[in-house]
Amino acid sequence: MSYLGPEGVLAKKQAYFVPCVNHFYQNPPEFVRGEMQYLFDSTGKQYLDFFAGVSVMNCGHSNPAIIEPMIQQLQQLQHVCNIYLTENGVNLAEKLAEVTPGKLKRTFFVNSGTEANEGALLAASLHTGKHEFIALDLGLHGRTQLTMSLTGIGMWRTTDVPNGGIHFARNPYYFRDGEGLSQEAFEDQCVADVARILARRTSRVAAMILEPIQGNGGIITPTPHYFKKLKALLEEHEILLIVDEVQTGFARTGKMFAIEHFGIEPDILTMAKALGNGQPIGAYITTDEIAASFTRPSASTLGGNPVSAAAGLAVLDYIASADLCQRATTLGKLLRTGLERLQKKHPVMADIRGLGLMQGVELIKEGKPAADLTDRVLEKMKDRGILVGKNGEMRNVLAMQPPLVITEEDIAHFLQNLDEVLQEEA
Ligand code: PMP
Repeated sequence: MSYLGPEGVLAKKQAYFVPCVNHFYQNPPEFVRGEMQYLFDSTGKQYLDFFAGVSVMNCGHSNPAIIEPMIQQLQQLQHVCNIYLTENGVNLAEKLAEVTPGKLKRTFFVNSGTEANEGALLAASLHTGKHEFIALDLGLHGRTQLTMSLTGIGMWRTTDVPNGGIHFARNPYYFRDGEGLSQEAFEDQCVADVARILARRTSRVAAMILEPIQGNGGIITPTPHYFKKLKALLEEHEILLIVDEVQTGFARTGKMFAIEHFGIEPDILTMAKALGNGQPIGAYITTDEIAASFTRPSASTLGGNPVSAAAGLAVLDYIASADLCQRATTLGKLLRTGLERLQKKHPVMADIRGLGLMQGVELIKEGKPAADLTDRVLEKMKDRGILVGKNGEMRNVLAMQPPLVITEEDIAHFLQNLDEVLQEEA
């Protein structure tokens, strides 16, 4: 096939993909190569990646430590049906039991975050015999009917009406909604909103699902107080807690899983994205007790196949050997301090939130969410060879989620460019 170039790729995408595709940029670059924290487009231009494909490439692009075991596995054995025995999947499940919090022990492998959540919801229903769920405003859980219905961001849904039996509780968005209250007092109100739902529906609700830090919702970061109170309430009503770590997992926030910052243990934890560092794999992990309710035969054809599981094993090894949790903590602090320094100069940086190398900056101009400014910042940063993300209900939150292999120099380079771009826009 002849070389298409960015315009050709875009034209084919527009002609042959279902038209729900979303682009950040007016002229999206066409990428042809990746190397750790860098990407290269079809013109040879280098970009510093500060988005990591939405928290996927935590171990860096085409990191030899991740891809070599995958290549070896591809050459040796790519796939057999899971009615036979292979080693990588069971070894990965054993390691996941070690690195996940609390009593989480039994894994079900799938191919994506959506499927991991769908599986977790099913496991919760099988265990409790109940079929209703609670989710948070501005959460995002996937693209299937049920997970999309549990998604609380308008732009990521295809209808405004959730499926029956789904209840939304107020999300702990302190910056937007907490005026006049301490963060803890505001979070008490958010937990009280869950109690309001439970007062009517306890006998029907199987589980509550939430992200520890809402990613697409705008890096909404509650305190441990919120999670402790919420978990106590759910336990009182015997409602399971599903924690969606699809975007926050695998050292992103400075701990293997973000929920570890908040002092509670989930009943089911879901993961995908960074588990495969670019290779499709997802999973949910739960306790012996909950897993015991799922005994009928079921398995995903390609879930946890030898190549994907080789990727997962390599990711866990690399997180440990390169000390990525510590790296995300140290570099995250550096980034955060730098952002706070810029905030003093640029009042549009209205709120900075997040943990480790998952940081968001909410841009507000003249009291309003500054979506157009956010777009211009993204575009100008891209022209300067830096990729940054955006999210939030009003599309006005800059999202910084780089590969965890970035360096102090990369952070300084990023901050300097952000400073200059905001200066130009002032
Ligand atoms: N949960 C969260 C928190 C996510 O961020 C995403 C994807 N952005 C999903 C679930 C869905 O994952 P996937 O695209 O792998 O199905």
